[in-house]
Amino acid sequence: MLRFAPSPTGDMHIGNLRVALFNYILSKQLGVDLIVRIEDTDKERNIEGKDKEILEMLALFSIDYKMAHYQSDNLKYHQQIAMQLLVDKKAFACFCSDERLELQRESAKDSNKPYRYDSFCEKLSDEEVINNENSFTIRIKKPDSVVKFKDELRGEFDYEPFDVDSFIIMRKDKTPTYNFACAVDDMLYDISFVIRGEDHLSNTPKQKHIRQSLGYTKEIQYLHLPIILNAQTGKKMSKRDNASSIKWLLDEGFLPISIANYLVLLGSKTPKEIFTIEEAIEWFDIKNISTNAPKFDIDKLRFINKEHLKIIDEMRLSKILGFADADIGKLAKIYLEEASTIKELKPKIDAIFESKHTTEDFASEVEHIKNVSKTAPFFDNYDDFKNYISNQCGLKGKSLFMPLRFCLTGAWHGPNLSDIYPCIKNYLGEIIR
Ligand code: GLU
Repeated sequence: MLRFAPSPTGDMHIGNLRVALFNYILSKQLGVDLIVRIEDTDKERNIEGKDKEILEMLALFSIDYKMAHYQSDNLKYHQQIAMQLLVDKKAFACFCSDERLELQRESAKDSNKPYRYDSFCEKLSDEEVINNENSFTIRIKKPDSVVKFKDELRGEFDYEPFDVDSFIIMRKDKTPTYNFACAVDDMLYDISFVIRGEDHLSNTPKQKHIRQSLGYTKEIQYLHLPIILNAQTGKKMSKRDNASSIKWLLDEGFLPISIANYLVLLGSKTPKEIFTIEEAIEWFDIKNISTNAPKFDIDKLRFINKEHLKIIDEMRLSKILGFADADIGKLAKIYLEEASTIKELKPKIDAIFESKHTTEDFASEVEHIKNVSKTAPFFDNYDDFKNYISNQCGLKGKSLFMPLRFCLTGAWHGPNLSDIYPCIKNYLGEIIR
């Protein structure tokens, strides 16, 4: 079983979607189920409605899964398992105040040492614990030996007990911390392969240690994806970078299929550049992802989007643009010579259907063409139409072409009218007005 485990704490980020896509691809390749786990145990960071948004995004990107569950629904299991660890003396109650811990953190900082818990409460006797009425956190005891795991991209990792530390697994309010809830749920749902961001690399030994403390011996495979960098600054794409938000990219007129294509291509070796996720399932090898942090290049995404727009079904494109005829999809494809996104295409197509008024140079010619075309017969061919207008209005050269282009497209420049005409000839009544 594979899982995608987003936190409902913000907008879906390109890094999250990339994790979801790779989990989806691998689950299909391995023929195992994918589940979605909404990691909502940190109530202070949850944002109302983000869970629904995440699930809607997955649907939009056609990432299907067997079931979605909320981690907070497993609270009673997290509490029972934490209790078991206490009984087994694998964990202990910690009464240390925030002030005491903060002082320790500061003193570690002053002496240039990494902060680790000093195990003060581990030494308390059962009697001292029972008689202490203060609230407490639960800490897991640090491991006795090195925790080893393999990352499928980077190879073997060894973490010393000192670095795993005796960390908190249950907060004072008796809710689980991220590492505990995650480790337990990966165990309860029999997860076999975890794909997630590199920022979680140092959590992996902690989660493995939790499961080892519980006597769970099944090995989970791990693959941590490199973070995505902003090509301009060379820094991690953060929430401040608009392009890091999937919602923003969609609003900018990138198709889901193009965004997915780009995120899979980014930093991977693939046999082709333009593809669908269903195609990628056939040949994608997750082990070919580079460990170097890839740079997000919006121009590359624009190129990929244009390529997908060139091959998209014409009726679909028409509907995306708010029309319902394949001719409009065909027409929009002609405009790809000067547009790469839906946001750029839409005003060009809309302008064709708007009423045409101008105070510019050819205002009287435009009115003349509009009048003549009202009673013009239907012409299948652009040259015949143009010749008819030319003869009826007595216009030639620039005085014909400029206002005629304006009447047909609402713009003074653009693709060849002879290419456009076959797509709009059936709508001239609506267009030339
Ligand atoms: N909830 C974590 C996140 O959104 C992911 C945790 C995981 O995949 O283990 O970053």
